[in-house]
Amino acid sequence: MIRHHPPFEMIVDYATGVSGEGVALAVATHAALCPMCRAQIADVEAVGGALLEEIEPAPISDGLLASIMDRLDDELPADARKPRPDRETARLIPSPLLRYVESSLADQPWRSVGRMFHEVRLPLSGKNVKASLMKLRPGSLMPRHTHRGHEVTVVLAGGYRDGDQQYARGDFSAKDSADMHQPIVDDDGECLCLVILDAPLRLTGAVGRLVNPFLRI
Ligand SMILES: [Zn+2]
Repeated sequence: MIRHHPPFEMIVDYATGVSGEGVALAVATHAALCPMCRAQIADVEAVGGALLEEIEPAPISDGLLASIMDRLDDELPADARKPRPDRETARLIPSPLLRYVESSLADQPWRSVGRMFHEVRLPLSGKNVKASLMKLRPGSLMPRHTHRGHEVTVVLAGGYRDGDQQYARGDFSAKDSADMHQPIVDDDGECLCLVILDAPLRLTGAVGRLVNPFLRI
């Protein structure tokens, strides 16, 4: 059962189309696994749609219309991309995320970061946002860290404990610069997460000083 959901502001930003690409990807991935948040997004979209109907339509210039059509054309190839994941990947990766993963998990160019985790970067268009899949070793203690920006995590397999909270598949975590935390991966299996960072982590412990260079955006 999913216990941790995006904050309501993130749902509203997502439903009204103002989230950044990284956070939007995390919210969409969570919502694909969470009927409650899907319903909330639909509600916000319905309210937004009703408000739009009350606004007097303004004439659209031919130039604007052409540019919108151009942008739609540009975006089509990404949507039309056909990932060919294996069964394990299709089981673990919800469809909004599959477009970014593109192939099977086993075929990703995993990069080992210390002994604690493997990481593969996902292609986002924004430069100040980093999206990664991380495979965390069972029982590993992540370096204690804080953030300059936001760290958003969606658990895709396995689980971890952070303070007194347990996180499992589908759970969503949003941390900001006020939160210092040190997640501990469950003993009984690897934990696979989608992690979005919109600014580099600041690691605070001795291990953190060693790992720090690897975690820069
Ligand atoms: Zn939810």
